[in-house]
Amino acid sequence: MATASLLIFIPLFFICLAASLAFVVLMAIWLYKDSRLHGQDPVLWVLICIFASPIIALILYLAFGRKQTLLPCQSCQAPIPHTAQYCEHCGAANEQYGQPLPHRKMNGFLKGAIATGAVSLLSVVFMFVALFAFAMSAGGGSQVTGSASVPIHGASVTVNSGWALVSIENHDNGVWNFTLNKSSNGYHLDSAFTLDDPSTRTLMASAECTGGPLLLNISQDGQLVESIDLSRAESQPVAIPLDGCTAGTVSLQLVNEGATNISGSIWVE
Ligand SMILES: [Zn+2]
Repeated sequence: MATASLLIFIPLFFICLAASLAFVVLMAIWLYKDSRLHGQDPVLWVLICIFASPIIALILYLAFGRKQTLLPCQSCQAPIPHTAQYCEHCGAANEQYGQPLPHRKMNGFLKGAIATGAVSLLSVVFMFVALFAFAMSAGGGSQVTGSASVPIHGASVTVNSGWALVSIENHDNGVWNFTLNKSSNGYHLDSAFTLDDPSTRTLMASAECTGGPLLLNISQDGQLVESIDLSRAESQPVAIPLDGCTAGTVSLQLVNEGATNISGSIWVE
């Protein structure tokens, strides 16, 4: 997911760049041509388009630049104001004087500018979507939530006969978290999970404690498969292959045989 959204982002970036560039160029051409027909300084409008932005130039131009419409004189072709009675260049009567303005079709350059502007806007929107998707998938890609496909759940297999001081455990998102301050020897915490594929799954255990041993017993159908002393584990999680198990229910028992200030997490990857 993370790589997919990055792969989408890169071409979008270049599409956005190309479309924005085309938007500026096409809008500048249209402004140049159209402003000349309206008795405006075309260079001024092109400069506004390039330095202020095509959108600002278009808004300003439609608001202030298109007041006066120039039409070519019928005799000498020089642009003359629509409202002039006579041509100021050759003196011929303006045949279009008093007539309604001819309807001008939207120039191809303006259409192109609007289309490329829309493309660049859309690609910016999709770039944000891709970035958001990337941030979401990158944030959710930790090893702990990745284990949710085989969640560990609580199990009360046997009754504890000892005592415990501050014993807190939970199964959060399939991860078995535990805290045990002090307990009598043999005090245990129990959990279980359903193993789907023994050859690819790994049991991960991270635990910190003082003293020991702190045994993690892995058993199936009442038979002990493996026992690991977690008090020897440093802050790095221990990876325990599950190829000694078969598919089905696997019981986990954390047995304290003399450790204190125990805290840790166990999950399946
Ligand atoms: Zn004329």
